[in-house]
Amino acid sequence: MKYVSTRGEAPALPFEDAMLTGLARDGGLYVPQTWPTLDADTIASFAFASYEEVAFHVIRPFLGDTFTDDEFREILSKAYASFGHVCRCPLVQLNAGHFLLELFHGPTLAFKDVAMQLIGQMFQVALGRKGERCTIVGATSGDTGSAAIEAFRGLDAVDVFIMYPDGRVSDVQRRQMTTPAESNVHAIAVDGDFDDCQALLKDMFNDFAFRDRVQLAGVNSINWARVVAQIVYYFTAAVAVGAPKRNVSFTVPTGNFGDIFAGYAAKRMGLPIDRLVIATNQNDILHRTLQSGDHSKSGVTPSISPSMDIQVSSNFERLVFELYDRRGTAVQALMQQLKTEGSFELSGAALQRLRQEFDSGRCDERQTAETIAEQYRQTGEVLCPHTAVGVKVASDRLSDNHSPMITLATAHAAKFPAAVESACGVHPPLPERMADLFDRPERITQVPNDLQAVEALVLQRTGRG
Ligand SMILES: *Cc1c(COP(=O)(O)O)cnc(C)c1O
Repeated sequence: MKYVSTRGEAPALPFEDAMLTGLARDGGLYVPQTWPTLDADTIASFAFASYEEVAFHVIRPFLGDTFTDDEFREILSKAYASFGHVCRCPLVQLNAGHFLLELFHGPTLAFKDVAMQLIGQMFQVALGRKGERCTIVGATSGDTGSAAIEAFRGLDAVDVFIMYPDGRVSDVQRRQMTTPAESNVHAIAVDGDFDDCQALLKDMFNDFAFRDRVQLAGVNSINWARVVAQIVYYFTAAVAVGAPKRNVSFTVPTGNFGDIFAGYAAKRMGLPIDRLVIATNQNDILHRTLQSGDHSKSGVTPSISPSMDIQVSSNFERLVFELYDRRGTAVQALMQQLKTEGSFELSGAALQRLRQEFDSGRCDERQTAETIAEQYRQTGEVLCPHTAVGVKVASDRLSDNHSPMITLATAHAAKFPAAVESACGVHPPLPERMADLFDRPERITQVPNDLQAVEALVLQRTGRG
């Protein structure tokens, strides 16, 4: 199995290199050259299997010869041992035909742990074998950074640097990044906003001399290895409610389109998914795209579901590649237009294909708070604001849906206590295993919003200066 770039110019790479590289050098994203499929009997056999067992069968076709079967089983067992639920990603029921897939039982209480814990272990084995050491640098608005730090802390093949906007992440999110004591973890408070952090990251990747000197690797949501890890829970959840004998639908609170693209991948692999529903908050570029074919940026408005406050949905490029029959030149032209004009228009054929697979809905701030309150009254479930966006969009379409609907619960309510308490009057407590988060000492390095300053820090801390 090889990986090709969505822009058609970077060389095809095996899984290991696509994972360690992150972004293709032509600016594109790596996707598998062909979609592997699983037959109905194999899918049916998942009904009584552990999460790790299903993960083994779903992910293995993507790996080529990167790991032996024994190595990969060991990686999976280490990755998910940190989860606080034996099912890893359990289902709960909200209503007739409506289920919630809880993806927040990992160490940082958001679904990003599901992928990040796995790629931490995969990096360690792949780099350890080569006797190499790499430097992971990431930018975060909160959830990605803490998940990356939890996944890579203490691994000896990796240094991890996470830049976050000083003063603009929640206390829980900051403490999850600044309290790990391991010397390979570096939490960096940048004097700027999230866009500044992302711009610094991009500039580091474009500084090829620096990139090669520190063996820079990226683990943001465009890394293919993250998407692949997320395919697994679509299978475990669908099988639990009757697949492959019946079709199942999913609603996904969406930002960068990584999570829902994993659902699309599951469908391409043979999972009988009926509808894939994109749920957005007031930052609704994807919903507008589905409505009209017009993919135009309009500026980010901060919301109570901050992990979905995006204006460029980077993984959408992977879907555009499919909508245009995998023509890299077509993708290149559209992405160029997005960069220079702030928008592109999908062709009629591409829009039609998009609508064949996806639906979409939007949930504003008031509706998000109302949904948290209403679900608490009706079911006793306390939803995080991101999950509430999904639940609202899913609920609106339950009456004309003919398959069980599964909404992805992307974070634990305790990660966003202020918004949740103001919506439903309940202060969601942290799970017991992290109840001492506010007692642990913090370690923070402050840096100005300046590329040279950040690069100098990375060089010095990794001993490559
Ligand atoms: C990252 C995140 C999302 C959005 O996921 P994408 O893969 O970017 O679409 C939704 N909810 C929470 C809690 C997140 O952390």
